[in-house]
Amino acid sequence: MTGTTCEGAGCDSARCDAATGDGSVCARATGFCAALLTAVVVSVVSGFSRTVAAQDVAGDLDPRIVKLVGTVSEERLGAILKKLESFETRSSLSSTTSTTRGIGAARQWILTEMSSYNPHLKVSFDTYQVPPQGRVTRNVEMRNVMAILPGRSLRRIYVSGHYDTVARPGGQGAANAGGAPRDPDAPAAAPADPNAPLDNLAPGVNDDGSGTALTMELARIFSQSGIDFDATLVFMCHVGEEQGLLGARLHAQKAVAERIPIEAVLNNDIVGGDRGGNGIVDGATIRVYSEGPEDSPSRELARFVQRWGGRYVPSHRVRPMARPDRFGRGGDHSAYNQLGFTAVGFRESRENFTRQHDVRDTYEGISLPYLAQNARVNAAAAATLALAPPPPSVLGDRNQPLISRAPSGYDANLKWNAVQGAAAYRIFWREAWGPDWQHELLVGNVTNLVLPNMQIDDYVFGVAAVDPGGHESFVTAYVTPPRANTPVRTGQQN
Ligand SMILES: [Zn+2]
Repeated sequence: MTGTTCEGAGCDSARCDAATGDGSVCARATGFCAALLTAVVVSVVSGFSRTVAAQDVAGDLDPRIVKLVGTVSEERLGAILKKLESFETRSSLSSTTSTTRGIGAARQWILTEMSSYNPHLKVSFDTYQVPPQGRVTRNVEMRNVMAILPGRSLRRIYVSGHYDTVARPGGQGAANAGGAPRDPDAPAAAPADPNAPLDNLAPGVNDDGSGTALTMELARIFSQSGIDFDATLVFMCHVGEEQGLLGARLHAQKAVAERIPIEAVLNNDIVGGDRGGNGIVDGATIRVYSEGPEDSPSRELARFVQRWGGRYVPSHRVRPMARPDRFGRGGDHSAYNQLGFTAVGFRESRENFTRQHDVRDTYEGISLPYLAQNARVNAAAAATLALAPPPPSVLGDRNQPLISRAPSGYDANLKWNAVQGAAAYRIFWREAWGPDWQHELLVGNVTNLVLPNMQIDDYVFGVAAVDPGGHESFVTAYVTPPRANTPVRTGQQN
């Protein structure tokens, strides 16, 4: 094994042989490289694309994804937000009988609107009967609105937001000003009449009209793209988030019970404002929260969003946050995490708390250029994941990580399980102290790599699966399973 790969080298096997001396890496990777030979090189500036024909150069970008990312429409996002605002409230406990106001009218419009995008998009209500509990004060029918774009395989990639809203006296601004961080969604005083609909004004244009509009816009552009995705894409508008992530919890519970293979969830909640309540403006970055520990699948998904979002939308910086969410705040991605699914939460970089959970959460608080950039990052990540093979397993049959010091006793010997659809694998590593991958190496269609004299104790290693078109899964890292404590028995001294 040499350290040279043919990535980006216009790699036919003759060139690879010259590049590596013995051709060992490239010989195995020739099939992968040949597929990229006549790739079109595309330059990307601020999410817009210009195509330049080129021969013999392998590109990191798939022109189809560049085109997809370029079709996100600010105008469409704005129209969706205005329509969502027009329902006045989308509280999960609001009216279901009005055709113009409340949750019932809102969910019907979302369903009808997404159904109009493309016949291939299967749009339905994901419905649950929920008796009184927690913040649910009466029997209520909870309906997520779900749009499924079937892929070649059953594995699923989700893009989501929540379409329900809430507004309380003082909103989130008053909750934050109250001192120590606390759960802003803590139960309010019991209503005088628990059967009365919660029908007060709650426009919720940013929380979470923004995530809903992003999800709907991606449902439109993905279903109209004509791209044949490997994974099934699910565009999910959750309900009941403000009552305790109920729609997401119910769907995640169903996914466990029915063994629905959810591979990744990209959840968007409050992603439309670029102006903080303190006056600081940032329209060029987005935060992505993920639960630990440091090499959990959700962390790897966050790194993936940073890597591929940054490639397709270089003008927008992804800021991964090594924590599940903001202090005292929650979001639907956590409902999936709690049942073992891989999920991350997108959050605008500068929040305006006076506009959250408040009647002031209106269209005026939205920056459409900012929301569109966040939509482009989601589109790039979801499309790459859905075209790539699933991430490899690096566990053996006894669930042990397949990493050793063989053959010398001082080497890094990595093994992984072959993934269907993979034509190559990309190995990543970094110092064991540090959050970001520092090195990467594309290897061919093999399931073993030895890096001589690399002490496995000093680095974190991971592997991603790559398809013939260069689409890459998120990384699976080699981690030491936690050791169970074995209590020491004590006895009486003789
Ligand atoms: Zn929210």
